[in-house]
Amino acid sequence: MKCKICAWELKQGDYCEDFYDCVENHEEQNGIKRGSWMIQWGKRMNGKTTKKTDSKFVQWSKNV
Ligand SMILES: [Zn+2]
Repeated sequence: MKCKICAWELKQGDYCEDFYDCVENHEEQNGIKRGSWMIQWGKRMNGKTTKKTDSKFVQWSKNV
């Protein structure tokens, strides 16, 4: 089934309650620990990451 928010194909049983769920479901499907994007985002806010270290996922989240 496809998520109505993020339009990603979700595994059966997965369900997005909000945008954050979408992100975490996407992480999980890519073998990333859920919540990693939040850590990356927090680091970016602290100026600890550069564009070079941003994951594709973080880039995606900026474009939403
Ligand atoms: Zn979703």
